[in-house]
Amino acid sequence: MAQAVFKIKNKKIYFTKRLSGDVLNEPKDIVSGGDYENVLSSYIGPHGAKEFTKLVNGEEEQIHFNATGNKKNGEIQFLSIFGYQIILEDGIEVFGIISDEQDTNNQLMTALKELSDIKYALDQSVILAITNRQGKITHANNRFCEISGYSNDELIGNTHQLINSGYHSREFFKDMWRTIGFGGVWRGEIRNRKKDGSFYWVDTTIVPVKNEKGKPTHYIAMRHDITDKKANQEKIRIMAFYDHLTGLVNRRKFDDNLIKKIEYAKKSNEQFGIMFVDLDGFKYVNDTLGHTIGDELLIAVAGRLSQIIGEQGVVARLSGDEFAILINSIDTPGDMKCFAEAIIATFKEPFAIEGYQLNMTASIGISTYPEAGSDASTIMKHADLAMYRVKGLFKNDYSFFDREMKISNQRAFQITNDFRMGLEKNQFYMVYQPKISPLEDVVTSCEALIRWEHPKFGNIPPCEFIPLAEDSGMINEIGDWVIENVCKQLQQWKSKGWEPLPVSVNLSSGQLMQADFVDKFWSYLHRYQVEPAWIQIEITESLYINNDKYVQHILKIMKEQGIKFALDDFGTGYSSLAYLQKLDLDILKIDRSLISGISDWSTKREIAATIVHLGKSLGMKVIAEGVETKEELDILCEHDIDEIQGYYYSKPLAETDMFQVMKTKKLSK
Ligand code: C2E
Ligand code: CA
Ligand code: CA
Repeated sequence: MAQAVFKIKNKKIYFTKRLSGDVLNEPKDIVSGGDYENVLSSYIGPHGAKEFTKLVNGEEEQIHFNATGNKKNGEIQFLSIFGYQIILEDGIEVFGIISDEQDTNNQLMTALKELSDIKYALDQSVILAITNRQGKITHANNRFCEISGYSNDELIGNTHQLINSGYHSREFFKDMWRTIGFGGVWRGEIRNRKKDGSFYWVDTTIVPVKNEKGKPTHYIAMRHDITDKKANQEKIRIMAFYDHLTGLVNRRKFDDNLIKKIEYAKKSNEQFGIMFVDLDGFKYVNDTLGHTIGDELLIAVAGRLSQIIGEQGVVARLSGDEFAILINSIDTPGDMKCFAEAIIATFKEPFAIEGYQLNMTASIGISTYPEAGSDASTIMKHADLAMYRVKGLFKNDYSFFDREMKISNQRAFQITNDFRMGLEKNQFYMVYQPKISPLEDVVTSCEALIRWEHPKFGNIPPCEFIPLAEDSGMINEIGDWVIENVCKQLQQWKSKGWEPLPVSVNLSSGQLMQADFVDKFWSYLHRYQVEPAWIQIEITESLYINNDKYVQHILKIMKEQGIKFALDDFGTGYSSLAYLQKLDLDILKIDRSLISGISDWSTKREIAATIVHLGKSLGMKVIAEGVETKEELDILCEHDIDEIQGYYYSKPLAETDMFQVMKTKKLSK
């Protein structure tokens, strides 16, 4: 069987196979690229050629006819002719077969159609390039031109060096050439550069086309655009290692850095340090001013920390308002001091966020390598412990890890963990400390104080667990429990025939800042039928520091409903006269620290006297806390103190004992 196989494109004929001279008397000048009508006429006559014109013009999709041609020896040769048209993006292509054997032509036509369909589908979906052995591009489809930004002319004859982005190593391409050079199929992801300089990613399969000896003569590269996929992968990678809010590295990346740092420090005998920086009272900002402002604040804090640390280390945000810093290299642990001090100092300047001037402080814990441990988790844990120590004391400070700290702070950890259990298992209860009017010698009111009987630690004092509850946010639940419990108690006393005496409850700043605080408070009062006059609230000045407008607003609402407020612990902290005037509170409580020793220290006596007068001049009832001796009582009475609360009269009492006191308003002394 003899066949000629050809393609017509743009009126030119290209042969992939020619009839041999024996079959037909082929003219010498028949070459690929000639005008199809001329060429075909010389084979199959002008009528046959016209049939192909129908395909070229799109009038027919398929033709099949028989014709005769002249053999070399002059004999007539019967020929079977097939033609098939396909429409491509850039015009019509016509394929044709001239064969001297009729049966096989049908099979061939089918095969040809299949092939052209595949080519069409490939062209639509794949970035296709064919290169020769030397790597020169011999064919590039439209999609290749589109994605690379180069024209077909620019690509053909060039190597892929043209689109090399410089991203991959030489070894990467060497490996690729090794694979395909030996006839293997290579697959991989390649970043290429467009003509405009931007990059695109392609998932690539290179298939070698081999000759009879199995040696590659050409390579067909099929590529898919995976630029979007790569961009997403990059996003995911960034998300996995960076904090989306502040752009700092996250805990995972920080841990990675630390592990590497330790390995390196072990080899090089270097020292380094880490710091845990935790914002004090960040939760209040979030709860009162909202998350947007909270977020802005965190971003601003991240900015200041990064500025201080600069190239000397890494700043990470571990979670919420908790930051960690790795200082790359120190000569002695003491070197960490200046970083900590710089951080404390930077917080002195308020953060200006959306019109608010937010005063923030931070508690910092420091641990150094190798002193605080030789593995990442120990060093981290110890910095955290050191930070907790600062939290438990005065905040706004820094502390180095030391070994004794470990014991006391493990306790703090456990306490923080156990709050919920404490509430669930009823381990909390209230005691009540009477307040006495010394002039009339009667009990006028009492203060409700919380107690916790912890299964492991026994009775934990509130001055130990309340600050931990405030830091962990559990104070709101505990505070709710206190209010409800006191209301319940009042209802019970009332039902037993009790003469109502005001009971004061302590409120942590965060509690009052809850958006639904007032609603919750009233709902407890209603549920237990407690009258507003029976309950008083003790607050401290810390409440006003960032939020005086909001606090004033809440206080006003509650005062209008008949709730009385006391300013607790006056004489410690800020004790600002300006606040006192602004707040319009009912009761002023002089802190125990100013009372104890009052009898033998005249300065204290003067301060206490001044506070009593000051409070009274502002129309407040003044109470002295922590009065333990007759001398202290006498001095305070000289200055016309209104009420006394202290061990001299009574320690806090259990509920049943308080009930007895309430009945008579007298203390059995
Ligand atoms: P505080 O509000 O200043 O309460 C007075 C504290 O002084 C009580 O300690 C009381 O037992 C103690 N005290 C009273 N008189 C004397 C005295 O003559 N001498 C001495 N040495 N101490 C005296 P407590 O019950 O340990 O409470 C400590 C702090 O815990 C309270 O100080 C308050 O800030 C906080 N707290 C207690 N209960 C609650 C509560 O239900 N909620 C909140 N948020 N805080 C509470
Ligand atoms: Ca109090
Ligand atoms: Ca107090």
